[in-house]
Amino acid sequence: PLRIGVLALQGAFTEHQHVLNRIAGVGSTVQVKTKEAFEDDTLDALILPGGESTTMALIAERSGVMEPLRNWVQKGKPVWGTCAGMILLSNTAHRTKIGGQALIGGLDVTVKRNAFGAQVDSFVADLNVPCIASPEVVFPGVFIRAPIIESVDADNVEVIAKVQKDGQSEGSIVAVKQGHILATAFHPELTDDDRFHRYFVDMIKALQTSK
Ligand code: GLN
Repeated sequence: PLRIGVLALQGAFTEHQHVLNRIAGVGSTVQVKTKEAFEDDTLDALILPGGESTTMALIAERSGVMEPLRNWVQKGKPVWGTCAGMILLSNTAHRTKIGGQALIGGLDVTVKRNAFGAQVDSFVADLNVPCIASPEVVFPGVFIRAPIIESVDADNVEVIAKVQKDGQSEGSIVAVKQGHILATAFHPELTDDDRFHRYFVDMIKALQTSK
């Protein structure tokens, strides 16, 4: 059974644990807050939750987990970022660059924070996500001051979901996968639908057997 860590510095981390704890194949979840937590060799994967990305990055630097997080991603270990977590995994964010405002990086995309503006701060949208089970059943995408992926900057980044807001001719990219990295602009942990968490669990297992 898998042991999955959830970065627990700020934001919606317990919600991820609650969903994970009822999925078959997940043995345990652990809150990751310190650099010592990364010395645990039994950790199979990591989730970076939603919250506020600049605050989360600041706390991560102060707690000394920024380097362990970067190492985790660079070593090719499975990681999933939701919302603020997706921003932190991106290589480029507006007004936020590695070296300046801290990002973890590793995901070859450019994100735009708070992309839906004040008028539609938060909304729920039905998403078509063909890669998860029962693709004919839409996934409830919960967007809270959500970012979008403005550009995909490498060929091996798979777009797995888009959202189309009123008046948009083309949808905005809101979920991608690049090898061991999964990123969603929305919050599957705030719904009763656990298909994204099961998708992540399957992704972890597939990466482990391909080694
Ligand atoms: N707007 C937040 C940020 O820029 C992300 C919001 C969220 O994680 N729900 O970090």
